[in-house]
Amino acid sequence: MSDPIMYDMHMHTPLCKHAQDLPVDYAAHALSQGLKGITFTCHNPMPNRFSHHVRMEMEQWDEYLRIVREAQDEYKGRLDVQIGLECDYYPGYEDFVQGQTKWIDFDYILGSIHPHLGEYRKDFWQEEPIDNVKKYFDLLAESAELGCFDCLAHPDLIKNMLVKFWDLDAFMPIIKESLDRIAETGVAMELNTSGIYKSLSEMNPSIDMLAEMNKRNIPVVIGSDSHISTRVADLFPDALNALETAGYENISYFKQHERHDIKITDARNSLTK
Ligand SMILES: [Zn+2]
Ligand SMILES: [Zn+2]
Repeated sequence: MSDPIMYDMHMHTPLCKHAQDLPVDYAAHALSQGLKGITFTCHNPMPNRFSHHVRMEMEQWDEYLRIVREAQDEYKGRLDVQIGLECDYYPGYEDFVQGQTKWIDFDYILGSIHPHLGEYRKDFWQEEPIDNVKKYFDLLAESAELGCFDCLAHPDLIKNMLVKFWDLDAFMPIIKESLDRIAETGVAMELNTSGIYKSLSEMNPSIDMLAEMNKRNIPVVIGSDSHISTRVADLFPDALNALETAGYENISYFKQHERHDIKITDARNSLTK
């Protein structure tokens, strides 16, 4: 085992109302897994009570900063604890989100589309599965084009709402068109290991989509999307294997919005077995 070099770039705190454990607990588990750092990406507070049941309230913002800084202080010199945000991309809220990404000096901003939210179902859900796929991947490309996200979270999440209808071959032309637009922007995309626990049990995205991302030189950032401390770095060896199968040689993480690349072989050797 070599020195820690990997980051887990996606995790939540209890402020999002569906996670447990404090940042200090996540930090403790990260150290035990051989990570160099972790990045908190709690769901962004939104105006108009937009899906407020899964995110912190505006007035909890200071508490978010406080609990993350508590972990930063406690683990100083041992683990790099970063502060980020998982921001919903949703038409009508572009200006708000763009401003929000400058609220503080974030290390990392994930842009997300959550098609399971009530608002999305009401505004965008369509009869035909293929129309839902088109809408989702069009919004995904739009979210990259907005220009304020470092990385796109769980970028094939729509498959979990279309489990019975998911047909990657049939949908691939739509996905490729979206990836062409995303590649133009230079925005990274996430490999989210929590997909294994979802209704369609595979990581987000799948290996075939990762291979298409690799063809377009889209950088990939790994995140566990932990909602409990014991999941930090969960399935990272599997994620590295999947990326190699898809043709990747490097993975990336961000600090102060700047991308850093590390070799997959080095990443694998750095993790606690
Ligand atoms: Zn998410
Ligand atoms: Zn998340």
